Amino acid sequence: MIELEKKSAFMKGTGVGKAMDEAIIHEGSDVLLFLDRRRTYIIKTKKREKFHTHKGFIQIDDVIGNRYGGRVLSSIGFEFVILKPTIYDYLKKARRSTQIVYSKDIALIVTYSGIGPGSRVVEAGTGSGALTGVLAHYVKPSGKVYSYEIRGEFLETARKNLKRFGVLNFVELKNADVILDIFEAEVDAVILDLATPWLVVPNAYEALKGSGCIVSFSPTIEQVVKTVKALVENGFVDIETTESILRKMKIKEGATRPETLMRGHTGYITHARKTY
Ligand code: SAH
Repeated sequence: MIELEKKSAFMKGTGVGKAMDEAIIHEGSDVLLFLDRRRTYIIKTKKREKFHTHKGFIQIDDVIGNRYGGRVLSSIGFEFVILKPTIYDYLKKARRSTQIVYSKDIALIVTYSGIGPGSRVVEAGTGSGALTGVLAHYVKPSGKVYSYEIRGEFLETARKNLKRFGVLNFVELKNADVILDIFEAEVDAVILDLATPWLVVPNAYEALKGSGCIVSFSPTIEQVVKTVKALVENGFVDIETTESILRKMKIKEGATRPETLMRGHTGYITHARKTY
């Protein structure tokens, strides 16, 4: 008893109590049901519902009240682990109406952009909103992503993805051409994934704070050359272009080695800083 009291006194005001509460699954919580690496399902919990899989169904009432990291048995006795979905898990499940940016590139884009909680970011094009969702995840709870997309029909998929990622409140979706205008000023970063980034550089310059970061993702070197030229001409410094190549590993005793097949190319990432 004394031990328990000590523990709760220790936890008071430390956020540990809150963290313990967040570890419990409530109705309406997102959970990732993990059978193996290929068979994972993200669902929102609802009382009295059943979730059907090829390995039997799961009673959601068995999930509610359980802990993240806990386990649940399907109707035919298969064990599923209940995980809390990370931004990486949501990204893997994103719906696609366009090509989306891969996590290996997003990691660099986020790092180069210098963004964090509270940052205000302009992004274009929204596409399926995969990159938008990750940017919003990092600027929340007090920042905002202003995301421009010329094709209105893509914004619907993006909105669905952002809602699923739980970050829709931190995004303003704009059906507008970023080459014509950027309506925000004094933003911390401008992030581009569209066919003609060099045409956006003058507007990006106007929208950015001094020292703010521009980051552009492009599949081809021709796009990179034009973009770097525009960056130099518009007063950006510290310009660098990189490519990230990711190899998955096969871990098996006595036969550990890179996977035979890999994604050979996604795109180049160019980043720079605004100066006066
Ligand atoms: N990064 C996105 C994918 C972007 S695909 C994701 O991860 O989901 C590129 C998008 O840029 C397309 O949807 C295209 O319609 C949009 N686009 C192209 N030119 C544009 C412009 N001038 N202004 C706004 N959006 C533009």
